[in-house]
Amino acid sequence: AFLADVVPMAPEDPLFGLMAAYRKDKSEKKVDLGIGAYRDNDAKPWVLPVVKKADDILHNDPEINHEYLPIAGLQAFTSASQKLVLGPDSPAIKENRVCSLQTISGTGAVHLGALFLRKFYNKQNNPTVYFSSPTWANHNQIFTNVNLPIKSYPYFSPTTKGLNFEGMIDAIESAPERSIILLHACAHNPTGVDPTQDQWKEIASMIHSKNHFPFFDCAYQGFASGDLSKDAWAIRYFVEQGFELCIAQSYAKNFGLYGERAGCFHFVTSPAHDASHTAERIRSQLAILQRSEISNPPAYGARIAATVLNDDELFAEWEDNLRTMSGRIMDMRKALREKLEEMGTPGTWNHITDQIGMFSFTGLSEKQVLRIREESHVYMTKNGRISMAGLNTHNVDYFAKAVDKVVR
Ligand code: PMP
Repeated sequence: AFLADVVPMAPEDPLFGLMAAYRKDKSEKKVDLGIGAYRDNDAKPWVLPVVKKADDILHNDPEINHEYLPIAGLQAFTSASQKLVLGPDSPAIKENRVCSLQTISGTGAVHLGALFLRKFYNKQNNPTVYFSSPTWANHNQIFTNVNLPIKSYPYFSPTTKGLNFEGMIDAIESAPERSIILLHACAHNPTGVDPTQDQWKEIASMIHSKNHFPFFDCAYQGFASGDLSKDAWAIRYFVEQGFELCIAQSYAKNFGLYGERAGCFHFVTSPAHDASHTAERIRSQLAILQRSEISNPPAYGARIAATVLNDDELFAEWEDNLRTMSGRIMDMRKALREKLEEMGTPGTWNHITDQIGMFSFTGLSEKQVLRIREESHVYMTKNGRISMAGLNTHNVDYFAKAVDKVVR
């Protein structure tokens, strides 16, 4: 028999199907709230002005060529990335406790971390990775592909449309010691619900008491609140507490470098050991994994980010661009909530402004989602998630009315 005869058809990617249906829709009113990418107020992709500047600088740099980067990536990029996520004065950096490799955006960083943990972490006990329920769908696939067992912890409360904190803490407590706990650093995808700083402290303390391993997925730093330190608070708090942990960092959203695949993986060792020595061993193993997976990471996106991150003036301009994106999204949250409340749409709508980042979990049921698509040409995922970036001053009232119609 041929292999080609036994490979079954894979199920269609739900987001892909949604995009195809949107493209086919001929209505002029159609609204795309599925996309996980920033759009400006005219529903167009936005090249950050600071990225355009970095582009020009690179374009005119006679030193730039198309040679391979080192296996660990562009050093100016990885060291700036450490400072960005951990804070410029982080003792972990000063004590040489951070191993960082440039990766294929955030996805590649999650994957490299998953591979590394599978190979070295708590092997005799076949540890389980715990995700929030729900989580970014790719988490399931990435960890399953490297044969790490997966389970979930409660996260979203359908009644409050906020965090099910008790459920989350209980599940972390009940997980076998030395499990891997995956955490979204900020702007949780798909719910937009983040723990408060006090809740993070309790989460850290529970993870510590159970000897679990925290794995941070950081895909929205600066994009969520507009404040880079605020969005990295949880990670920095865990590092301060002396955890050994890892971080998958993406530059897709905060630089708008989606297709350039700029990201970074960081492993932070605990201050408890002869730290710099440990880091050296870990770095050597990560390099071997990286070599067999991708050999060397792609140069262009990392060069853009490094150009901005290592220049004070450009960095300040980037922060400004971040405030433009996060500010527009927060304005849309406000506008949507106000409109729904003004119409007296049944239910409570404070969650729209309580939630943060690219996405909002509206609380609409699958049936309502399908009706909105049918009747109003608004496209969102079946779990009721909307991409806030798809809303703008031209369509937010229209969308609110469409919601009102199916809720009433
Ligand atoms: N993690 C989460 C939670 C995300 O939402 C995303 C982007 N959708 C990523 C990781 C990685 O995306 P990318 O590979 O484009 O950086």
